[in-house]
Amino acid sequence: MTKRSSKFPSDAEVVIVGIGGIVGSMLAYWLAEMGQKNIVGLEKSTIIPSDIASTAHASDFVYNTTHDKLGCWATNFSRNFYEDNGFFLKKGGLEICRKDDDARWEELKRKVESGKAFGTNVRLISASEAKEKFPLLDEESIRGAMWDPDAGLVTPRSQDVVNFAVESAKEKGALSTYTDTPAVGFEIKDGRVTGVKTDKGTIKTNKVVIASGIWGPLMGEMAGVPVPLMPVEHPLLFFGPLPEIQGTDEFLVYPLLRDQGNSAYVRDTGRLHGGMLEWGYYEDKEPRLVDPEDIGNPEKTMISDSMRYLDLEEIAEPLEKAFETTPILNELGWDEKSSFNGLLSVTPDAGSLIGESPEVRGFWLCEAVWVKDGPGCARLCAESMMHGKTQVDMHAFDISRFYPAQKEKEFVKTRSFENAQTIYTPAVHPREPYISHRELYVSPFYEREKELGGFFENEVAGWERALAYESNKEKLNKYLKEVPVRENEWDRRHVPYEIANAEHLAMSDSVGMINLSHFPIMDIEGPDAERILEYLSVAKVGGNTPEGRMIYTNFLDEDGGVHADLTISRLGSDRYRVVTGGADGNRDWVTLRNYRDDMGLNADINIRTHDIATLGLWGPQAKNALGHFIDPNELAIENFPFVAAKNPQFIWRKEN
Ligand SMILES: Cc1cc2nc3c(=O)[nH]c(=O)nc-3n(C[C@H](O)[C@H](O)[C@H](O)COP(=O)(O)OP(=O)(O)OC[C@H]3O[C@@H](n4cnc5c(N)ncnc54)[C@H](O)[C@@H]3O)c2cc1C
Repeated sequence: MTKRSSKFPSDAEVVIVGIGGIVGSMLAYWLAEMGQKNIVGLEKSTIIPSDIASTAHASDFVYNTTHDKLGCWATNFSRNFYEDNGFFLKKGGLEICRKDDDARWEELKRKVESGKAFGTNVRLISASEAKEKFPLLDEESIRGAMWDPDAGLVTPRSQDVVNFAVESAKEKGALSTYTDTPAVGFEIKDGRVTGVKTDKGTIKTNKVVIASGIWGPLMGEMAGVPVPLMPVEHPLLFFGPLPEIQGTDEFLVYPLLRDQGNSAYVRDTGRLHGGMLEWGYYEDKEPRLVDPEDIGNPEKTMISDSMRYLDLEEIAEPLEKAFETTPILNELGWDEKSSFNGLLSVTPDAGSLIGESPEVRGFWLCEAVWVKDGPGCARLCAESMMHGKTQVDMHAFDISRFYPAQKEKEFVKTRSFENAQTIYTPAVHPREPYISHRELYVSPFYEREKELGGFFENEVAGWERALAYESNKEKLNKYLKEVPVRENEWDRRHVPYEIANAEHLAMSDSVGMINLSHFPIMDIEGPDAERILEYLSVAKVGGNTPEGRMIYTNFLDEDGGVHADLTISRLGSDRYRVVTGGADGNRDWVTLRNYRDDMGLNADINIRTHDIATLGLWGPQAKNALGHFIDPNELAIENFPFVAAKNPQFIWRKEN
């Protein structure tokens, strides 16, 4: 156990709130590795590793079987870290498919393909091979399984990694830690963090990282920073003791087993916890989210704040189902005393939350991170803090991906609920539409688009946008015949691809109009507008770029990595309009604003997305079509050349 340092500091270069969990401790480790000094780690528990953290209750599985590239990178990086430092037992892991579950079998095949793309070693195996690897399985109940030979367990516990990481940072003279010292407030001046308040005194600092897990939203609230996550209950039950593993020296005797058809997993506890079986379950119908304010509610809390009482009735059904594939659980009976409902974080889009908050400069987040991703995500956060860039593109975890409306409490709750339903269970389609908080934003054309039979399957950044229109089906019969058939239902799901493709073919032949009103628009105006955009853009947008010229460009980082992909129109000598992608608007706004502020430049950045609609009129006949409404002279090549930007009020035909 790490000893408490004695003298309380009055200042620090970095303060980490939540040093006793896997994320805070790994962050200190990486910051120290990168040469950061004077880091103060605060922990509200009385000990490090924290006994009240989610980390203290984690099952410590590490599988690398997701469909997302950044997730695979984070897990792979973390597993290597655990392995290199002697904290990993590679026993392999199974993901079983129940007898008649065709959908899961298809999903396992897709997972194998994703695994190939992202460099993992997963493969499908037969039911008998699965039984061989995990003898407690009922072979008759399953069709087969996916085998991840690299899966394993963080050993002895992820808490031991916490201790190791904290001690390493201390040995480098970089870190001091204070237990029983919760952060109780933050000092903020001119939009920047200047200090962290505790009941032992205030620490002056201009960099704070909250690595406070499920308590993150409470920390953020004190600083005026919304932290979009919700704690969710995760029942963990113990069965046993299991006679076969009594007296073992190992931390894990059998491989790990996941049964996503039942949203559950099983593993043995090896030589720890009396040699039991551990059964964990993710509620997939009515996940029990917990208001951050209700963490520690004495009527519901058991032993530690991130542990709640368990009601067996709530899990009776999946437990029965678990007996089908692993009947031994039923024979052993459960140990009520040690079973509990652990709390962990779920977010509105299932991604982690990393980076400097858009609301308060110097106030960083490293939140909603699994143990399996802890070292990797902490590494990304540390790189971003120290170097302003990361070794892999982490936009999918970047906190600035969220627009303010997506961080409103109700939005966070309902979207997190939807994500919690799919933590484990059904194969989630990449185009799976969200149900809650639809029609957050609609364009002025929305009603008309609905009349035309618009397919509003998915929203982007809260905007409804049609993927195709039913009314075009008959009109485009000729093109429909040219559209190649998508054989797999999975490829057809949630997309009216026949009509959408026919629309595109028709547009290439003649003309088509696309509503792009979900594209974010920012007007940048002021003496330094040109300087800001010239620095950030790879293409020339200033200098002798004429007014009325539209430029398609990227913002690149110093290694040439693409940071933004957008158009910039020069509207005046010091006036520009930026139009960017729906999912990227908030992040691009943060980039522009931060550069302006960091360089002390002078320009207003006005978000105009909700004032101005965007329509694209494209195809070889676009000019003729527009000529019905606008004086064709205005559209002549000399008046309206390629990549021209004009204000329509000057060219709109008078009779219209
Ligand atoms: C039952 C269960 C099983 C799990 N199994 C797995 C698994 O198999 N694999 C996996 O990858 N993940 C698993 N997880 C998830 C994993 O445990 C968490 O995602 C991870 O531990 C989160 O780490 P963290 O450091 O962000 O948060 P935590 O571990 O919760 O640490 C946050 C720390 O912040 C401290 N803190 C909070 N507020 C303050 C304050 N005001 N001032 C100072 N300190 C403060 C807390 O005391 C705590 O120590 C499981 C979780 C549970 C509950």
